[in-house]
Formats: sequence, structure tokens, C-alpha cells
Amino acid sequence: MADPKRIAIIGAGSGGYVAAVRAAQLGAQVTLIESAEVGGLCLNWGCIPSKSLLACAELAQKIKKAGDFGITISGAVTYDLAGMVERKNRIVAGLVKGVRTLLRTWNVELIEGRGALVGATVVRVVKPDGTETTRPVDAIIIGTGTTAPALPNLPLDGTHIISSREALDLTAVPESLLIVGGGVEGCEFASLFSALGSKVTIVEMLPRLLPAEDEEVSALLAAELKKQNVTILTNIQVNKAAIGPEGVTATLADGKTVTSAKMLVSIGRRFNTAGLGLEEAGIQLGRRGEILVNERMETTQPGVYAIGDVTGKAMLAHVASAQGKVAVRNILGHPTTMAYDVIPAGIFTFPEIGRVGLTEQEAAQRGMEVKVGKFRPIGLGKAHASGETTGLMKVVTEAKTGRIVGVHLVGAHAADLIHEAAVAMRMGATAETLAGTIHAHPTMPEGLMEAAEDVEGMAIHLARRKVGAP
Ligand SMILES: Cc1cc2nc3c(=O)[nH]c(=O)nc-3n(C[C@H](O)[C@H](O)[C@H](O)COP(=O)(O)OP(=O)(O)OC[C@H]3O[C@@H](n4cnc5c(N)ncnc54)[C@H](O)[C@@H]3O)c2cc1C
Repeated sequence: MADPKRIAIIGAGSGGYVAAVRAAQLGAQVTLIESAEVGGLCLNWGCIPSKSLLACAELAQKIKKAGDFGITISGAVTYDLAGMVERKNRIVAGLVKGVRTLLRTWNVELIEGRGALVGATVVRVVKPDGTETTRPVDAIIIGTGTTAPALPNLPLDGTHIISSREALDLTAVPESLLIVGGGVEGCEFASLFSALGSKVTIVEMLPRLLPAEDEEVSALLAAELKKQNVTILTNIQVNKAAIGPEGVTATLADGKTVTSAKMLVSIGRRFNTAGLGLEEAGIQLGRRGEILVNERMETTQPGVYAIGDVTGKAMLAHVASAQGKVAVRNILGHPTTMAYDVIPAGIFTFPEIGRVGLTEQEAAQRGMEVKVGKFRPIGLGKAHASGETTGLMKVVTEAKTGRIVGVHLVGAHAADLIHEAAVAMRMGATAETLAGTIHAHPTMPEGLMEAAEDVEGMAIHLARRKVGAP
């Protein structure tokens, strides 16, 4: 039997550790190198910590509505952010332990330290105590991720001007919070801190929040955030920030100022490529500093692969994991390519958002003629029973074929519900197939069925639009 392939993976984030386990499952000898903590950004300072805190805020919001459900809560309901952060830390620690166990059971060699390439066939690790070790390998996977941006006009001091990392460890709710950037991260933090009582302002330089999402989805979220007392300033940039006795004063492009206790900078990320020996190894970077890869996740140097955020693709944890599996399969002789057309994503705002595939606007940009079906949860019995009637369900189909090309959901459990649409799209389903699939009653997914029916104007629980309509 041939010797197992030796694979070194630099970075144990969502991309790296998943690649390590899959490579071990497929019989490779794996070395995984991590300079901070296994699980990377997502598990330690991203997805899981933010969703743990958002779960607390969501519960707090539900408690506020207890009276509507005939439940009386006597005494004041107060929030203890320090307690929430402690809970978050416990969750993270437990999951980190779980990942370490996985790696151990699959015999992955975990080296703690900073890894770099020495050409394309050797990796060097500098351990925390300064000692070095090297490993000759058959293939290398780089999954080093990103860090918070360094913006000269908005210098992070970690106390007043902070990144998501510090925001997740605040133990007292800031009286006011200015969030620079109305993308996914900015909107999730706006939901979190406004629910806990902070006076939140979002400043976004583009014309709308969540610029990458469907226009109606982003308008609906903006309307809901406004109801939660979030101030939204769009089409304007923060030019500079100064720290003073009252907190942080931001000067906007029109000369106006906004003063808040803290400022959270939620714009962009920096690719972690410095010190990896990439240039010497013949690995090219793209215009934004990302590592260039093809659809097999190969860099410009044969035998060296890159995965996850550092490749500048979808910047999502599950995409990093999927890319990791693709890289490993290619290294081990099972040719596979990475496709990006069916990637579900959740945005954990209040209300929640789920999306997969193209928006109407993106389809139009590709010259595709579309037919769209819409339904609102207010038409669902389950939504009323659970007090969650806010939202929108939208199915975008290619007019010519009826094939579903995108689904956009806003409302309770949207990030979970989106997977039905993802599977349907992966199977090349039409709206007719989705509409013809019997959905259990009473459930939220019934709304997706109705939205699919609405593509042909046949949703049962939508009033007839105009006399004479089909
Ligand atoms: C606040 C926040 C919330 C988020 N929420 C979500 C969400 O809900 N859903 C979602 O899909 N995505 C979310 N993301 C994005 C998600 O975290 C990333 O897409 C994901 O972590 C990318 O995984 P990765 O493996 O590419 O990189 P990372 O997770 O960044 O891992 C890279 C690892 O490499 C290590 N490393 C770097 N350089 C070296 C070196 N030279 N040697 C050794 N180790 C090195 C780092 O320490 C790190 O552990 C969120 C991000 C943030 C900031």
C-alpha cells in the first residue's frame, strides 16, 4: 500500500479544521497549524459568540411580549450583559473542546504556533515559546482567514472605537453605539444592542442597509430596525472619529457630527497573508490582497491550496468548510469543483433573514427575465399562533423555465427555513415543484409553498389582486 499523503493545513478555522477531519477520514496524514484557537473566527469571535448573545436578546424581547401571551411577569426584567457574555464564553469553550476532541480522535496532529510555507513542500511553525519545527509535506492548504480592518481615519483603540471582537466581550450595555457599516455584521450588532437598550445609530455609505440583499428585504429590515429605535443614516460616510470625555465623536462627510459612548467599526476585513512566505512560494494575490484560487481551490502554485475567507469569496463559515472539503478531495485524487450558485446564508437580525441564490436585481443584471412570487407570514396560522407575523417570503424564478433561481426570506426562523429552498434549487426544482410539495400545517414553511404558488398568482391565502386576475 502506498504511503498516506501528508497534508499540512495552516489555520484551524471553519475551513481548516473541517479540511483536517475530512482529509483524515480519507486516509491522509494531517498536520494542522493554529496560532490562536481551533475553530478560528467563527467559533471564537464570530458566528457562535454573536448568535449566543443574540439568543439572549431574542429571549429578552420575547419576555417583553409576555403580556400578549397572557403571561404576567412580576417585578422588573433587567439585563445582565456580563452574565450573557459568561454564557457565551461557556458555549464557546465547550465547542472548542469538542473540535479538539474531533481532531484527536481522527489523529490529526495539531501544532500550536504560527505557520508559514518554505516553498511548496515544507511548512515551518514558530511555536509560542519561540522554538521552530518543520514538516515536509505533499500538499499544503492555507486557511488563515481575516482580521479586523486597520483604517487610518477610524483607528481601533479597543475601548471606545472597537471591532466585533471587543463588541462581543462588552460587559455593560453602552448607552449609545454608533455602528459604521450597515452590512450583515453591522445590522446584527444593531439588533443586539438596540434590543438590550442601547441607542444605536448605523452609518452606511451606500444607499441602503444590506446592500447585497434583495431591495425589499433590506427595506423591510430598515423599517423594523427603525421601530426598534435604531437611527439609520445612509448615503454618507464617516470621515473621522475623535475620542473625548463624552465618548466618540464621528464627523460625517457632510460635516455633521454624531457622539456616542462607543463606535463599532463593521467595514471590511484584512486578509491574513503576511508572513506566510507566499511570494517566495510563487503564490499570487488578487487586487484586494486575497489569495487567488481556481474552482478546485488551487493557488497559482501546484500543490498549494487556499480555502475560506482568505480567498475573498463568500466570506461565510460554511463556504470555508465546503471549500476545505473540495481542496482535500482534489489533493487526494477525487476531482471536485466548488460551485457558488446555491449558497444559503442567514442574517441573524430581528427579524431574521435567509437567502439563497439570486436576487431579482442580480437576475436582471444577468439579463434573465424573472417571475416572482411573494407571501407574507401574516397569512399563516402558525405565525399568528407564535406571535411572529412580521416578514416576507419571496421566490424568484427564471421566466423561461420556471426554475427557482433565488429565495429570500425575512421573519422568524428564516435562516433555518432557507434550506428547503437550497435543496430545491440544488435539485433544479421549479416553483411548481415547490408549490406542489405538501407542507405540514400549521408551519412557517407553508409560506414558502404559498410564495411558490404566487409565482403563477395561485396562492390560496392571498386575496385576489384584481377582478379578472387568474
Ligand atoms: C462577528 C462575526 C459574525 C459572523 N457570523 C457569521 C455567521 O453567522 N455565519 C457565517 O457563515 N459566518 C459568519 N461570520 C464569518 C465567519 O466567521 C468566517 O467566514 C469564517 O470564520 C471563515 O473561516 P476561515 O476558516 O476561512 O477563517 P478563520 O475562521 O478566520 O480561521 C483562520 C484561522 O487561521 C489562524 N491563522 C492565521 N494565520 C495563521 C498562521 N500564520 N499560522 C497559524 N494559524 C494562523 C487564525 O488564528 C484563525 O484561527 C462572522 C464573522 C464575524 C466577525
